[in-house]
Amino acid sequence: MIDRENIDRHVDSVAPQVIELSKKIHEHPELRFEEHRAAAWLTETVEKAGVPVERGVGDLPTAFRARLGNGSGPRIAILAEYDALPEIGHACGHNLIAGGALGAFLALVRASKEGRLPGNVDLIGTPAEEGGGGKIRLLGAGVFEGVDAAMMFHPYDRDILAHPALASRWLTIKFHGTPAHAAAAPWDGNSALTACLETFRLVDSQRVHFRDGVRVHGMVTNGGQAVNIIPEHAACEFSVRAPFKAELERVAAIVERCARGAALACGVEVSLSIRQGYREMKNNLAIARRFGAAMAALGRPARETDPRVGSGSTDMGDLSQAVPSIHPYLAICEEGETLCHQHAFAACAASDRGFQTMLTAAKAMARTTLDLLEDQKLLESVKAEFAQA
Ligand SMILES: [Zn+2]
Repeated sequence: MIDRENIDRHVDSVAPQVIELSKKIHEHPELRFEEHRAAAWLTETVEKAGVPVERGVGDLPTAFRARLGNGSGPRIAILAEYDALPEIGHACGHNLIAGGALGAFLALVRASKEGRLPGNVDLIGTPAEEGGGGKIRLLGAGVFEGVDAAMMFHPYDRDILAHPALASRWLTIKFHGTPAHAAAAPWDGNSALTACLETFRLVDSQRVHFRDGVRVHGMVTNGGQAVNIIPEHAACEFSVRAPFKAELERVAAIVERCARGAALACGVEVSLSIRQGYREMKNNLAIARRFGAAMAALGRPARETDPRVGSGSTDMGDLSQAVPSIHPYLAICEEGETLCHQHAFAACAASDRGFQTMLTAAKAMARTTLDLLEDQKLLESVKAEFAQA
C-alpha cells in the first residue's frame, strides 16, 4: 500500500510549479476549443515528469491524455478543465481544476516510482466545458473506454461532495416578419421583434407550471435592423435546464409552444433549432464518500450536498452517465461571498485561498484514486451503485 501522507508530501513538493502554472492559465484566459497555451503548458509539465502525452485525443486539438501504469488492473481518470469565459476570464476557476488534476497526477507519478501502482491512472485534458461539451466529444471518440471511474473537482463557495447538476439544452428561435416604414406605413409591416418579446412574456407566464429546480433563461440576439424599420428579423436564444430529462423535454416543449404562439399572434414566421446541452449529473456516492473521507483526513470535512445553493450544468454530467464519476465542489471563498461567473470569483481563482484549495483537492483526488486502485471491494461497490442507479 502506498502511504497516504507520502502522497500529501508529493503534492506539496510539486506545489510551486502547479501554482505557477495555474496562475499562468488564469492570466491568459482562452475560450472553449482555443485553449492552446493551457494545453501546451500542461502537457509540457507532464512530459518533464517523465510521462508520455498523447495530444489532440478524440480529434480535439486542445485535448490530451497521459497514462500511468502498465495496463493491468483498474483504470482511474483524473480530469483537467482549462477553458475560460468570454469577457470575465477565469470566473469559473478552471485554472484551479487544471492545477488540481495536474498536482494529483504528478504526486501519483512520484509515488509510482517508489512502489508498484496497483493499476492505472489517466490524466485527461478535457477542453470546452463552457458550452462546448468537450467531454461528450471525447466520450464519443472512445477516450474513456476502459476507464473504471472518473473524477475532478470544481471551485465553489462551499465544500460539497455530491451536488446535483442540471440537464440542459439550448433553443435558438428566429422570427421572420414583414418590414415597413416604422412611421410612414407601420400598418404594412409585421414585427419580428414583437413576436420575440412576446415569447419572453409567454415563457414567464408559464413559470408557474415548472417543477422545482427548473431554470429557463434567455437573451435577445437580434432585435431589429434600424429603428425606423419595422423589424423584419429578430432572434433570441434560451437555455432550458431541469433536474431530469423528462422535465427538460416537457419545459423545452413549453418554450417552443410559446414561440409558436407569439409568432401566430404577430403574423410572422418562426423557426427553432435545438442544440443538445448536458445531461444531469449522476454522482457516484461510493466514490464521493471516499473523497469525503480523504477531505476529512486533510482537516476539511465536507457536507454531501447543500440545498441552499443552486446548480449549474456540466459535460461531466454526460460522462457520469457512462462512467462512475464525481464532481465535488470546494470553497475558494467564504460561503455566499461570490459564485461562479462573477468578477469576484475570478479574483478568488487566483488567490492564496484558491491555490490552497487546489492543493487540498489534488491530495484528496490522489488519495481517492489510490483507494479505488487498492481496495477491490470499494471498486465493486462503485460499480454496483452505478449499475443500480
Ligand atoms: Zn466551471
